[in-house]
Amino acid sequence: MTAYIIQPTSYIMIILLLGANLGDRTTILQRAVDLIVERVGSIVKQSGLYETAPWGVADQPAYLNQVLVVETVLTPEAVLNQTQVIEQELGRVRLEKWGARVIDIDILYYNQLILQTPRLIIPHPYLHQRRFTLVPLAEIAPTFVHPVLKKTTLELLEECEDKGEVIFFNSPKTSPFG
Ligand code: ATP
Ligand code: CA
Ligand code: CA
Repeated sequence: MTAYIIQPTSYIMIILLLGANLGDRTTILQRAVDLIVERVGSIVKQSGLYETAPWGVADQPAYLNQVLVVETVLTPEAVLNQTQVIEQELGRVRLEKWGARVIDIDILYYNQLILQTPRLIIPHPYLHQRRFTLVPLAEIAPTFVHPVLKKTTLELLEECEDKGEVIFFNSPKTSPFG
């Protein structure tokens, strides 16, 4: 008789922010979600899409933003590698800092990990200063606690001084993998 040893796999919850403000924004976001499912992990929750005012550089089209909770087995660096390849495949070109882009995928949280390397800062350093991040995050993770600031998403949103417009756009397409 063959004995099978079942290896415990440690799944990690990560929270990603997607943003798009060039081209067919809805289709690009959906393609990004599909590639994330393929290469990063399964979607536990996804927020609606929000139309949001540009932040940092004003003279550019409005964004569509979405937040995803994803279950992964990848390390933080591996998540970044995968999301950067997805950005490139979807046609992102890096020009001006905070300028218009086809797709941006940021890692907001990786469980309760606090990480600061030259390539990767987790939690994302600006998340608490951005309504376009906090509003969709509050929809799907209102009580998640920021490991550095020790506040929930709802508390961060209440205290956030950003006045940028964030308008509900539509619900995400439900995916058979979602
Ligand atoms: P912001 O990070 O302020 O939202 P941005 O998304 O426009 O700005 P990018 O040009 O997409 O910035 O990324 C610049 C670099 O940020 C990436 O090459 C990556 O190494 C680094 N980075 C640091 N922390 C993170 C993180 N939590 N998620 C994604 N990228 C990060
Ligand atoms: Ca970003
Ligand atoms: Ca980014």
